[in-house]
Amino acid sequence: MKIHRCILLACVALTAISHASRDLSAAQKRPNIIFMFTDDHATHSMSCYGSKINKTPNLDRIANEGMLFENTFCTNSICGPSRAVILTGKHSHLNGFLQNGNKFDCGQQLFPKLLQKAGYQTAIVGKWHLGHGGVSDPQGFDYWEILQGQGPYYNPPMIKNGEKVNHVGYTTDIITDLALDWLKEERDDEKPFMLMFQHKAPHRNWQPSPKHLTMYDDVTIPEPDNLFDNYEGRGTAAHQQDMSIAKTMTASDLKLTPPRNLTPEQRAAWDAAYEPKNEEFRKANLEGKELIRWKYQRYIKDYLRCVASVDDNIGRMLEYLDETGLAENTVVIYSSDQGFYLGDHGWFDKRFMYEESYRMPFLVRWPGVTKPGSRSKELTSNLDFGETFLDIANVDIPSDMQGVSLKPLFDGSAPKNWRQSLYYHYYEFYEDRRSAHMVRRHCGVRTPRHKLIHFYNLDEWELYDLKNDPREMTSRYDDPAYAGVVEELKAELARLQNVYEVPDDSGSVSKSPPSLKPRPARPAQKKQPRNANRNKPANKKAAQK
Ligand code: CA
Repeated sequence: MKIHRCILLACVALTAISHASRDLSAAQKRPNIIFMFTDDHATHSMSCYGSKINKTPNLDRIANEGMLFENTFCTNSICGPSRAVILTGKHSHLNGFLQNGNKFDCGQQLFPKLLQKAGYQTAIVGKWHLGHGGVSDPQGFDYWEILQGQGPYYNPPMIKNGEKVNHVGYTTDIITDLALDWLKEERDDEKPFMLMFQHKAPHRNWQPSPKHLTMYDDVTIPEPDNLFDNYEGRGTAAHQQDMSIAKTMTASDLKLTPPRNLTPEQRAAWDAAYEPKNEEFRKANLEGKELIRWKYQRYIKDYLRCVASVDDNIGRMLEYLDETGLAENTVVIYSSDQGFYLGDHGWFDKRFMYEESYRMPFLVRWPGVTKPGSRSKELTSNLDFGETFLDIANVDIPSDMQGVSLKPLFDGSAPKNWRQSLYYHYYEFYEDRRSAHMVRRHCGVRTPRHKLIHFYNLDEWELYDLKNDPREMTSRYDDPAYAGVVEELKAELARLQNVYEVPDDSGSVSKSPPSLKPRPARPAQKKQPRNANRNKPANKKAAQK
């Protein structure tokens, strides 16, 4: 009897200890974060966003098991600046990286540094694109291995914690191998981790992997309805850009010349795939619209082949998380630095505030938090990503970060005071010399219904009614029926410039972009739900029209 009682007591004690340790470990077990990031991946080439031209089963899986954000937009649609905004949670005019070619100052406050300080093990693998060497080398990471600048699609030299290393193979596969190696070999089981897993693909010039060289060979990809856009109804900037499929694409973009850095084996596979098709093209002597149609097919197939490789490799990462049980306590996020024109308006590239290059994919899977298959329509931005990661990790969000945590949206709720407008500013245009793709500087504001764009060096405005004209074919700026909307949005743009501390000279008719220094960081505030209250427009009616 006595023995029986002892066993019973021991069992009770053991149960209590096990409950206590489970509670403790749950409290200690802050979620891991994997930020999967690509370059120039437009939402209209993801089947979970309704793509009519391809399938992305692994990205769809993240959406099906988590939450898809329908209205996430970048603050400045170009590679380096988008990354700088994410790392700092500050607009370009404050983080100092206004355009590609600027040198990023990693000495400033970055969200990975804050996570590292809070006990997270941090790593970045893949495309960095913020310069390297000295103050531009990644800071806040226990491990970093990055491409130099854009990096090639094949055989990329990389920089690992400051040392140059060479790799042979296809870059999207290599970046995934390195990320998986880090998880398998370097990860500290005692700490939560934050991994930035960042691909070069599907950036120009869209070189497919050996596995996907002939994918789509036997199909015709549907053309966008405005492939032959003549830019009537829009201003000077849309007419003067240099990013059209018709005029801008080079022989290398179109794979009429092969990449120069392939191994003999890679080159043989490449030529076997492209040469017969190129021969057929040369014989056909296409002209006019038929030539543009051919260029579109060549471009879009290569772009989608690169996307297919990204999707496969994301599948590899998801499988690894499943196999190791890491999936359960890891927040998986997918995004891309901005969108891209997939023949829309006759274009490739990005930069403009028009929807196709302005919108970013944003998927979040957090088991037990995001509801499988849920969607959010709220206005969200890359300005919010760093704040969101800090909030996921339960780390205080410094008051000088300008975005808001998106965590309050993860349960599917739509907070009543959520922001009703977003601010945009693109800088990369020189008045006195040639600029890449010749897209004029512009700033603007987008609400759920409307978009106002100011090409200030041209002194031209454009207004779009996104409900009646989702393809943005006709500016309504001079339409008297929209005079009230114009007035309200101009006031809202001015209000946002004030809220975000945009210097007066960044919107002026200056010849070259301002080189603004980031402002000193203010001390961190106690963590509080930083919802979008402060971004509420002065006149809510304007935003809801
Ligand atoms: Ca990009």
